[in-house]
Amino acid sequence: MIPTDLDWCRGQDAADPLAHCRDRFDLPEGVIYLDGNSLGPLPKGVAERVQKVIAHEWRNDLIKSWNTADWVNLPTRVGAKIAPLVGAGAHQVVMADSTSVNLFKVAAAACKLNPGRTEILSEPGNFPTDLYMMQGLTDFLGPDYKLRTVPRGEIGDAIDENTAVVLLTHVHYVTADMYDMKAMTELAHENGALMAWDLSHSAGAVPLELATSGADFAVGCGYKYLNGGPGAPAFVYVADKHLKTARQPLSGWFGHKAPFEFVDDFDPADDVRRMLVGTPPVIGASALDAALDAFNGADMETIRRKSVALGDLFIALSRERLARFGYKVVTPENPRIRGSHVSLKGDNGYAVMQALIDRGVIGDFRAPDHMRFGFTPLYLGFEDVYRAVEILEDILETEAWRDPKYSARGAVT
Ligand SMILES: *Cc1c(COP(=O)(O)O)cnc(C)c1O
Repeated sequence: MIPTDLDWCRGQDAADPLAHCRDRFDLPEGVIYLDGNSLGPLPKGVAERVQKVIAHEWRNDLIKSWNTADWVNLPTRVGAKIAPLVGAGAHQVVMADSTSVNLFKVAAAACKLNPGRTEILSEPGNFPTDLYMMQGLTDFLGPDYKLRTVPRGEIGDAIDENTAVVLLTHVHYVTADMYDMKAMTELAHENGALMAWDLSHSAGAVPLELATSGADFAVGCGYKYLNGGPGAPAFVYVADKHLKTARQPLSGWFGHKAPFEFVDDFDPADDVRRMLVGTPPVIGASALDAALDAFNGADMETIRRKSVALGDLFIALSRERLARFGYKVVTPENPRIRGSHVSLKGDNGYAVMQALIDRGVIGDFRAPDHMRFGFTPLYLGFEDVYRAVEILEDILETEAWRDPKYSARGAVT
């Protein structure tokens, strides 16, 4: 058992090699933000950068900024900045579109690279958009194609001669269960399937070795642990062996070899830019670009060590103080198979979470009965975790959540 007293937490904070990173974020006073796994907070420098893009690059320099401010290369420049966080080479990652759209592109490209095989394999309970996009893709590809979902424990056995691509989310969005990327990728390859990973809950949170894992494709989210802001662009990774051969069906002009030649026939770029579709969203992309500076000098191993320690503390405190209210930890205790958030399952989770948010502790609720708490080492300390559980215990103890105002639901939970 790890210590769970306040003095120990303060000692951990005093010795924390990442403590100085908290100052890189502009967090509201009095908030303990445990939802960086859903929307990262505002890093300092982002507002200034966006202001510069609007007031200088757009207002003054107008269309010249495509060249003078190098707007045109934002997709590869931001991709190159994300690459070291996911264990990829700068030439293998490009910023593009949304995660949903990128899922469609990589799965379609994988099916095309693996002709004769007509099944996309995933798991039930994967993030909805992953399954929805695959349903849309297989429906579009025709009656031969189908999406098959099997529980995570059975995926290895389910990969067969008809599996074109295995598409999995590396860290599960509810439970935080984490796959062994290399082992699963090897299983897919042994059976002739390609492997595509959704890194939405992994990028910027856990160390990744995309290139050495052998993964064929990956996609990930810009607004979660990468802190790019609401609706920030996402990214795509392509393994070297597919960089010149992968074909995705959304063949827009930014994926063309020479977009400004304005020729009639599509000819894909012979690098990762073939995953692009249209004009990059310059303002949002610039915000993401500036946000990534929050990772400067903070290596993923150090981030991971602290993330695991914060998660361990939260799990221990929850067991100690919340079990008597029937609250259970559903996230694996073993850090080898755990991402960077922890979910609790219990009654009245929605109202309890609203009461918690009202007290300055922000997590989120996932239907039907999970409360999620994200642990983001760049701006959270051990005492924050201690206080969060203390306040949660108080809300359960006093039944403050029973106030009807905590039961009114917004459109986004
Ligand atoms: C957050 C998340 C997405 C988000 O997709 P959008 O296209 O940005 O809405 C996709 N997949 C997973 C696993 C996620 O966690």
